[in-house]
Amino acid sequence: MSPIDNILEQLIEESRELEKKIATLSRKPYIIGFISKKYIKCGKKNCKCQKNKNYYHGPYYYLRKEPDYKYRTYLGKTIPENIEEEIKTGLLLKEAIERKRKIDQTIKKISNLLVKK
Ligand SMILES: [Zn+2]
Repeated sequence: MSPIDNILEQLIEESRELEKKIATLSRKPYIIGFISKKYIKCGKKNCKCQKNKNYYHGPYYYLRKEPDYKYRTYLGKTIPENIEEEIKTGLLLKEAIERKRKIDQTIKKISNLLVKK
């Protein structure tokens, strides 16, 4: 087996492993997004936040999701535990998909080169 065949075989194996990983991860609940937080001044005349310029309410947590992260969902004053877990899963899933995509591209390029020979 030539070195290039060896590399190709390794890449195909890695792509298969990633496919399994993606399948496993996508069976779990997941969110592709991130959490943002905000501190605010409420606008009530007699509130602490109006009297003290360094005082803000919050943090208040929001979830921003793919595709454009534009819309946010209010989560509350604490981040729900399952949301954090689902974001972690989403991140792993996104990484695995991206990695598989790159590996598959490389496999295709190498295969094309081998065919042309
Ligand atoms: Zn206030």
